[in-house]
Amino acid sequence: MAGLAAGGAARRRGRPFLILERAGRTGGNCVTFAHGPFRFDSGAHRFHEHDREATLQVRRLLSDGLKRVDVPSQVYARGRFVTFPFKAAELAAAFGWRFLLRVAGEMAAARLGRKNRGGDFAARKTRAYGPTLAGSYLLNYSQKLWGLPAGRLSDEIAGNRLRGLNGWGLVRDAFAAAGNPATHLEGAFAYPDGGIGAISDSLAAECGRENVRTGAEVRRVFHENGRIRAVQVNGGEVLACAAVLSSIPLDRFLRLLDPAPPAAVLAAAAFAYRRLALVALFLDRETVSHAATLYFPEPRFPFTRICEPRNRWRGMAPEGRTSLVAEIPFSTGSGIESLAEERLVETVRSTLAGIGLITGNEVLGGCVRRLDDAYPVLDRGVEDRRREVFSYLGRFANLRCIGRNGTFRYLHIHHLLPDAARAVGELLAGEGES
Ligand SMILES: Cc1cc2nc3c(=O)[nH]c(=O)nc-3n(C[C@H](O)[C@H](O)[C@H](O)COP(=O)(O)OP(=O)(O)OC[C@H]3O[C@@H](n4cnc5c(N)ncnc54)[C@H](O)[C@@H]3O)c2cc1C
Repeated sequence: MAGLAAGGAARRRGRPFLILERAGRTGGNCVTFAHGPFRFDSGAHRFHEHDREATLQVRRLLSDGLKRVDVPSQVYARGRFVTFPFKAAELAAAFGWRFLLRVAGEMAAARLGRKNRGGDFAARKTRAYGPTLAGSYLLNYSQKLWGLPAGRLSDEIAGNRLRGLNGWGLVRDAFAAAGNPATHLEGAFAYPDGGIGAISDSLAAECGRENVRTGAEVRRVFHENGRIRAVQVNGGEVLACAAVLSSIPLDRFLRLLDPAPPAAVLAAAAFAYRRLALVALFLDRETVSHAATLYFPEPRFPFTRICEPRNRWRGMAPEGRTSLVAEIPFSTGSGIESLAEERLVETVRSTLAGIGLITGNEVLGGCVRRLDDAYPVLDRGVEDRRREVFSYLGRFANLRCIGRNGTFRYLHIHHLLPDAARAVGELLAGEGES
């Protein structure tokens, strides 16, 4: 997405460029897979309309193919689903008034008493939302997703997801009249016809086929006197270049540099990435839920969340049928990596049948797609290590790092698009062009 966005920006400015993509297709971690008549995204994507420029760009790219989706999400806890953002009456019915009053009291105390100052993700979120809500939902979920104890996670992992969510907001929303839900993080969002991959595909089309080479892995990046001079592709061909934008995972990009960076910089870039197994079940049933996403914070579930693609766009499943896609995060070296596809499908099928979400005999089939480098693992101290890396890379006047893993930040599409265009503008300005 970031590389394609940079290509689009260069093309709009009439500048020659070439995108080198290692995989056999464009789109990276932002694509829509097809399996027979079913389609599903590389994770439960939504387009957030938080950046005006990005929204205008996507609307222009997709013509009228970007639609508003206004369905809430749900959290599975203590044996039942509750709507998220929470509603007081539903919480009380599900968990009792005592629970609700305790949560409300903790959050009101958090608002009145303490300010969010310093600390890791776990400490800050416990201070902000109170121990009950933070412990039961947020911290459990984050640990499963990022693969580290919440106390070792950087506060950055919250990203924009929790923007606008505070103790008072939750209390207010929980007690708000029905039909007036919060819009902070799980409210309405935008989504393209055809799946999230429509955005990547339209960006690739904007770049022009002749400017994109797939199956082209950058293996070395040559530099001299503070400038990147050339890149080597697939271990052979060397291409001279005036400037480079890289969305290659940051630590791997550093290791491509020739001459190599100092050992201390390479050591600072000891970054880790979380991988993701997407397990899709195809069902002989019209619909399972009406939620955008179903979250499963409890550790007993191997997956973090499930989405039903047709709730984002009807065409994701054929008429009368639907699908569910479970996300199982894992790290390199874990058992998930080597589990056979059938085992993963069966695990998800039996777990969902076990809680009564589906019945075993309505499953028509399933498949698994694995994403490498789905999430940069932002642990405590990442800010300092990233600063050290960028202080070194800052010496290359004709280089910009872009994208989620390319900058090792928890970025989303609406960040990547303007960031990439800005980076192209900076490089051209550095050449004396407007
Ligand atoms: C599960 C999941 C859910 C998400 N949900 C949302 C969401 O709801 N909303 C949202 O806005 N964003 C979401 N995102 C984020 C969004 O999809 C990512 O920000 C985006 O895919 C990252 O794009 P990128 O271009 O930075 O990196 P990538 O997609 O990782 O692209 C990097 C590319 O570089 C290529 N590459 C690597 N090494 C080399 C090499 N040596 N030579 C040549 N090519 C190389 C890779 O093959 C890849 O295509 C989600 C991401 C995931 C994984």
